[in-house]
Amino acid sequence: MPDPIVLKTIVEMSAWSAKALRKDKSIGFVPTMGALHAGHKSLIDRARKENDLIVVSIFVNPTQFGPGEDLDKYPRTFEADEKLCTQAGADALFFPDRKEMYHEASRTYVEVGGLQDVLCGMSRPGHFRGVATVVTKLFNIVRPTRAYFGRKDAQQLRILQTMVRDLNQPVEVVPCEIVREPDGLALSSRNAYLSPRERKQALGLSKTLEHCKQAVAKGERDAMKLIGAMAEMLEEEPDAEIDYVAIVNAATLEDVTTIAGECLAALAVRIGKTRLIDNVRLNA
Ligand code: AMP
Repeated sequence: MPDPIVLKTIVEMSAWSAKALRKDKSIGFVPTMGALHAGHKSLIDRARKENDLIVVSIFVNPTQFGPGEDLDKYPRTFEADEKLCTQAGADALFFPDRKEMYHEASRTYVEVGGLQDVLCGMSRPGHFRGVATVVTKLFNIVRPTRAYFGRKDAQQLRILQTMVRDLNQPVEVVPCEIVREPDGLALSSRNAYLSPRERKQALGLSKTLEHCKQAVAKGERDAMKLIGAMAEMLEEEPDAEIDYVAIVNAATLEDVTTIAGECLAALAVRIGKTRLIDNVRLNA
């Protein structure tokens, strides 16, 4: 496979896309923050199957990090990322720096009311505003036919689907399944922060969600009971500190009292200093 072309400026990226679109090529787009792993690769693989050309972006977006979060120490592994993109058959890698993406006098943001304030939005105010803004900017620069997002970040996915609908953005959002380690841990760039002891405890997230899914399969419909059982299981891990344990309607992200239709069991848990999220879909 040839290496993807690396484009660092908006002008270069836009010109590349314009040329592809003039030739009637479809563009599949995978936005990432780098430190790529098999979860990201599954998005690129899916995009490869459904489009003529593939663009992967790598940009650690400052506007989605709050004060005291891990912006500065977020893993940056460009060479390995480039290799993974080559193996996955990406055609272009958009790798802008912060100044390229944000004009110093930048003052325009995209907000998706309501959906951005619940779950992760409670402890990360401004996070989804940063995500919606950067993804809109990336869509305008790359002009993709389809964009691929993981269900690992279920709230982000729901927010971006809503944004695309509300703003008539001309792109199809394609949800992709969560890729997990063989033992169940959802792949995440932040797993790199975990010590071996924390890595073991991190397994509590997927185990707890699986337990909840089984309970629903056996007929449990009471959300409070399910949430209580999940919290109890998580509290067994000595270094786990729960941010939230929730069961929400998958479309509205509102809390439910009874499992009906498509719901989402979602967790955010700090293991030591590392905040991890995971979720599972529940179908009653
Ligand atoms: P990030 O680099 O963390 O911003 O993630 C970029 C994209 O990869 C997002 O759409 C994530 O939802 C997706 N992603 C991250 N981890 C996984 C995973 N384990 N399985 C599937 N998609 C993932």
